[in-house]
Amino acid sequence: MNESTQDVLVLVDGDAAVAGPVAVARAAVSQTPGATVTAVVVGARPVADAVAASGVDRVLWLGDAEGAPAEAWAGAVADAVAQAAPRLVVAPARDGGRALAGAVAARCGAPVLTGVTEVTLEDGAVVVQRDVHGGIAVRTERVTGGPAVLTVAPGGSSEPVAPVAVEEAGAAPSTAVRVREERASGREAVDLGGARVVVGIGRGLKAREDLAIVERLAAALGGEVACSRPLAEGHDWLTKDRYIGISGQHVAPDLYVAAGISGQVQHMVGVAGAKVVVAINSDPDAPVFAQCDHGVVGDLYAVLPALAAALEA
Ligand SMILES: Cc1cc2nc3c(=O)[nH]c(=O)nc-3n(C[C@H](O)[C@H](O)[C@H](O)COP(=O)(O)OP(=O)(O)OC[C@H]3O[C@@H](n4cnc5c(N)ncnc54)[C@H](O)[C@@H]3O)c2cc1C
Repeated sequence: MNESTQDVLVLVDGDAAVAGPVAVARAAVSQTPGATVTAVVVGARPVADAVAASGVDRVLWLGDAEGAPAEAWAGAVADAVAQAAPRLVVAPARDGGRALAGAVAARCGAPVLTGVTEVTLEDGAVVVQRDVHGGIAVRTERVTGGPAVLTVAPGGSSEPVAPVAVEEAGAAPSTAVRVREERASGREAVDLGGARVVVGIGRGLKAREDLAIVERLAAALGGEVACSRPLAEGHDWLTKDRYIGISGQHVAPDLYVAAGISGQVQHMVGVAGAKVVVAINSDPDAPVFAQCDHGVVGDLYAVLPALAAALEA
């Protein structure tokens, strides 16, 4: 490892949705004049081009290889990071990002801190806020010495900024992992992590057929449908990858609509990263009203169709 710089690297695992890691990286370098954010990208070239307009200072595109998943690039990414000797490495908290984060940490003898939401610099040390115990507590940790590797929720997409040039490194995947086959699992694909709008429905919904009113509002908002756990485990009205909370998905959309959801902590920790939370509940004393930005006391069977109709108009 070279002598450590004050720079921050963002690892991009073949998926351009890295608004969360870029935001944390920018916050970290903002306190150190001259420090830069570089994205180290593997996978298809259009991913590197998209990341070039995400607010980073440099993009280093390692390359693409037929059928190579992010984990096949672990060694090449780790070498690039060791060469750059950054102060921090930030990876998206999803399968590919975690594989790269682990490889880099092993190569550099660095700690991995997961679930990071905020980074500041104090007296030369990196101070990290991270969700622990499934998100119901926030822990502050101080890292001194060499680089630290952080995983951060990918977040939604960000507004594009003027792109920087993409530098080509011409690296090759360093292990022989290749995708041999991909088959549909039979489950519908859902990308709650990348959604800018999520409409969550809870036990206020009386029947499975009534999901149509939730889907209509989500479509009018250009968002995804999600739910509280009882609707996915128990009722089985929605698939398990759609429930949000401590034991489900953690999302960070621009807008989260919680309809017929009481607001138990096990659910709400999953939307702690949402920018705006709107709650719709017929019970004015529902705990969700203490955790939202805007609340509507009302029957979701009246409010959701009215909102959808207004948006459609
Ligand atoms: C270890 C553990 C882990 C858990 N993990 C999760 C998790 O990851 N995610 C999760 O979601 N839950 C989780 N739970 C369950 C959690 O504690 C709550 O039981 C669950 O979130 C409640 O779901 P709900 O809000 O949909 O239902 P309820 O709490 O029953 O709330 C339904 C709400 O709908 C309102 N309502 C009813 N009718 C209407 C109407 N017509 N219009 C508008 N509002 C209406 C009611 O006023 C009420 O507030 C976990 C529990 C445990 C013990």
